[in-house]
Amino acid sequence: MSRSFASVCVVGGGPAGLAAAIALRRQGCKVTLVDCTVPPADKACGEGLMPDSIAALHQMGIELPDEVGCPFRGIRFTDGSSSVTADFPVGVAKGVRRTALHWLMVQHAADLGVSLFWNARNVRLLGTGISFDGHSIHADLIVGADGQNSHVRRQAALDEVAHEKRRFGFRRHYRIAPWSPYMELHWGPTSQIYVTPVSAAEICLAVISRNSRFRLDQALDDFPDLKRRVHDAEPASRELGALSVSRRLRRVQKGKVALIGDASGSVDAITGEGMCLGLKQAQALASAVKSGNLAAYEQTHRALMRRPRAMSSLMLTLEHPGLQRRVLAGLARSPQTFESLLAVHVGAVSFKRICSFNLLGFGRAILAG
Ligand SMILES: Cc1cc2nc3c(=O)[nH]c(=O)nc-3n(C[C@H](O)[C@H](O)[C@H](O)COP(=O)(O)OP(=O)(O)OC[C@H]3O[C@@H](n4cnc5c(N)ncnc54)[C@H](O)[C@@H]3O)c2cc1C
Repeated sequence: MSRSFASVCVVGGGPAGLAAAIALRRQGCKVTLVDCTVPPADKACGEGLMPDSIAALHQMGIELPDEVGCPFRGIRFTDGSSSVTADFPVGVAKGVRRTALHWLMVQHAADLGVSLFWNARNVRLLGTGISFDGHSIHADLIVGADGQNSHVRRQAALDEVAHEKRRFGFRRHYRIAPWSPYMELHWGPTSQIYVTPVSAAEICLAVISRNSRFRLDQALDDFPDLKRRVHDAEPASRELGALSVSRRLRRVQKGKVALIGDASGSVDAITGEGMCLGLKQAQALASAVKSGNLAAYEQTHRALMRRPRAMSSLMLTLEHPGLQRRVLAGLARSPQTFESLLAVHVGAVSFKRICSFNLLGFGRAILAG
């Protein structure tokens, strides 16, 4: 650990903040984490941990026990008339309830000796560190991990946005055995619904749309097959909503403040990459701290966001119903293209590979009908 960053305060104890606390503590830093809620934190989420998320958790010493979550082997896209599936090229993914993941990460951070303060209100940045509820804590580095509406971002004047688009997500769990070994993405005329297996007896349904009032029950009317499947299933949680934001900030680091996770910019929820990004950013931040060069984090952060951003733009073009129908029909005829795209999506192969499997040729074939 570089002596310049001996003590660290992390504001926000979601997946990204806890990952940062764990990675920095493993580096030998004295770490304090403060959060305004109490664990286990729940959040509207598709709850899919892709294989690279599982690998990132493993790297920070967190194993998901067999009894936590439900493995799935790939992704299925369907619009009711066409469907296509692909397996992950390496590893397995898992659907895990946010509350279960939160407990595991909180426990791991506590075991490593991270000082955890929950229910902390009025967190303020000071020149020397942070203050909250009358306490003040010295910090050489402040990590802003306080989510989409980050106060740290605002207080550190890092909230200059280069690009921003908002959609809205709602999720609910149902007591029903998963019917597929895949995470399903159902494409409809104005929304998309994810189905993630989260245990042997439970699934998570999450809808994403551009309409803040468009709730799950309404959305299901556009997905008759899915509606039929969950019709008799008992809801296992209440409906919870969250913003799905595509946001690019000009900067994510300034002075002694670094942003991480959704606080540092995000990609649309359709990618299922949000938690994975937070975990990878935590590792990048810990490496920058180790080398004593915080500015290196800015560059690695930009590089980490590039692929999910491009995949998000590509996927959101499918919101257009005509294109959606053609592309899904085309992918159903050419499942190897879908396999290659999934491999790029989970970071198993590079973007250059897209050219080698002739995406342009595929595009022309789609447009020709
Ligand atoms: C509908 C939907 C589906 C999604 N599906 C997936 C998916 O399948 N897979 C995936 O990987 N990602 C998914 N995501 C994205 C994922 O949920 C986020 O990227 C992830 O939660 C970001 O983690 P975070 O720790 O940065 O922020 P958060 O999880 O939002 O945590 C922020 C923490 O900061 C705390 N906090 C906030 N303000 C303050 C304050 N002022 N003071 C102190 N503490 C504060 C909060 O209490 C919270 O604990 C989805 C998102 C949506 C909306």
